[in-house]
Amino acid sequence: MRLGIDLGGTKIEIIALDDAGHELLRHRVPTPKGDYHETLQAIAQLVHDAEAELGLQGSLGIGTPGALSRATGRLKNSNSVVLNGQSILQDLESLLQRKVKISNDANCFALSEATDGAAAGAKVVFGAILGTGVGAGIVVNGHILTGPNGIAGEWGHNPLPWPQAHELPGPQCYCGKQGCIETFLSGPGMAKLHQVESKISVHVEPVETRTTSGSVLSAEQVVQRAEQGDAACERSLQLYENRLARSLAHVINILDPDIIVLGGGMSNIERLYVNVPKIWDNWVFSDRVDTRLVKHRFGDSSGVRGAAWL
Ligand SMILES: [Zn+2]
Repeated sequence: MRLGIDLGGTKIEIIALDDAGHELLRHRVPTPKGDYHETLQAIAQLVHDAEAELGLQGSLGIGTPGALSRATGRLKNSNSVVLNGQSILQDLESLLQRKVKISNDANCFALSEATDGAAAGAKVVFGAILGTGVGAGIVVNGHILTGPNGIAGEWGHNPLPWPQAHELPGPQCYCGKQGCIETFLSGPGMAKLHQVESKISVHVEPVETRTTSGSVLSAEQVVQRAEQGDAACERSLQLYENRLARSLAHVINILDPDIIVLGGGMSNIERLYVNVPKIWDNWVFSDRVDTRLVKHRFGDSSGVRGAAWL
């Protein structure tokens, strides 16, 4: 039996899978606020309860934002800041008396989809999450690619490639830089840009296609209104597709993956899978592009499933 834990800022979820990937059990609890030791205890409790309920002992993998520093063995880059700087792996191993594996949640997403999800059987998989943030993991021959810095696939804080004049210097990012891919392709990023760019579009569109600009729409609402024929929203969605195509073309030029799987809230926009591959060859340095772009199979469950497969 394999146990996977998705350790997030608001909830901790556990899943138990059998060797064929069938779900045996799933539970979740709220993440203790701001207390590292309580968080460890909550994880241990979930593991003990799951094993008592199933009468089995399992291997344990944990997916969480951030990465383990190879140099110090401590967690870094987590948005759950109480975890940063902690030796979470060692602490859990001594608490649970077993070997524990920890990986970034985007890596877990990619591993889940590569193991028995939308990218099953593919050799090189780029799994990208387009949600409130943007991140990605790389799986090669069924194994997560990790490097000396533990950041393979961290593409959300690269600059938007092949920028146009109006995209420079780009929105301010929390990481301290401007124009990061995340500021264009995350849900909140897309919503913010729509607010700004739809005002510009009003000046170039004929009167009859004008829409109310300045109202604050969520990314979901922008997509919905585009479907209903709203011209400004349609333009924002086309810009989003174009930016995603450029950002993925950049990845294809470096990694040349067999398949790119999308997860996160923005991955539910069905037209991306048709429209983005139609235009990405504008930037891929090849006479043809055979990389496939697909939607996740397990969605939000891929983080916890991937943790179990670690
Ligand atoms: Zn950034």
